[in-house]
Amino acid sequence: MSRAVVTGAAGFIGSHLVDSLLADGTAVVGVDRRAPHPDSVAAANLAGALGDPNFTFVTGDLKTCSLVPLFRRADTVFHLAALPGVRGSWGERFAEYTACNVFATERVLSACEEAGVPRLVYASSSSVYGTSAGATREETAPSPESPYAVSKLAGEQLCLAHAGRAASTVTAVALRLFTVYGPRQRPDMLIGRALTAALGGPALNLYGDGSHTRDFTYVGDVVRAAVAAGTGRIGTTVLNVGAGVSTSVLDLLATVEELTGHAVPVNRLPAQAGDVDATLADRSRAAALLDWAPRTPLAEGVSRQLSHLTAHAVRP
Ligand code: NAD
Repeated sequence: MSRAVVTGAAGFIGSHLVDSLLADGTAVVGVDRRAPHPDSVAAANLAGALGDPNFTFVTGDLKTCSLVPLFRRADTVFHLAALPGVRGSWGERFAEYTACNVFATERVLSACEEAGVPRLVYASSSSVYGTSAGATREETAPSPESPYAVSKLAGEQLCLAHAGRAASTVTAVALRLFTVYGPRQRPDMLIGRALTAALGGPALNLYGDGSHTRDFTYVGDVVRAAVAAGTGRIGTTVLNVGAGVSTSVLDLLATVEELTGHAVPVNRLPAQAGDVDATLADRSRAAALLDWAPRTPLAEGVSRQLSHLTAHAVRP
């Protein structure tokens, strides 16, 4: 890949993807509506990339900004920009979720076609499945349980609709990401909040009794899958990207306590609408098409996130 565009470049996963592409010698255009000045989280996430002559950062809102000039000559557009998070997607904020996750995705796809970009990689979400009884395969019927999950499924379907047109020149690979964690994780997410609580920050708001399970997936493994999806000789498809390991939230908290040497203080709160009971990836399709397998066990990934948190000020 000689040139790539990453939307959501100032975010958690996007900034790791930018770093990885730059390390491979790819010229990267990063687009995000959060600018490193004045957004300190964006600045911290992009600290490595901003000094790289192969990196261009563009501040822009995908709902309105001119995309075609940014996309020209790109081999791949990685579309990661979105409003993430299940709980905030109910109610009035859904208008913004629809605009950022659905309308903006349509604009990105149209711009890919107009600029002649051959490959789009879209960050979809395991939340499209809803609660699963066991490992979910891509053929499993989606059953989203929150407005956020509906918006991510809609974005995925837009990818398939655009790429499926007879005249389309773009192939689209939608990656259903399963609970991503690691250094720079969004401060609203569980592992960062649990580590922060153990290190003396605010007590962890624990929704439900902690028996619900997640397929926690290390960000470096997700980035390897995204790069493989951006370059692989594959057609339009949907792929699970998950570690394939089921861990309960209580077991995760035990790991955090072991690594930090401190108890995690907890505020017990009722389960929240849209928080599913279980997620777990069947990763055989990603293994077959991308030759991808996760490499980072949970304790190792959480340990890296802990090191990052202690090396940097706890984020607001
Ligand atoms: P993040 O919030 O850290 O990054 C998303 C970035 O997108 C932010 O920097 C934000 O400013 C930007 N953005 C949002 N709307 C925009 C717009 N209209 N114009 C320009 N920029 C905009 O989130 P993340 O955790 O890094 O998630 C990245 C992607 O992965 C999202 O699409 C999310 O839905 C998906 N995903 C994440 C997870 C996870 O566990 N983190 C799991 C499944 C899917």
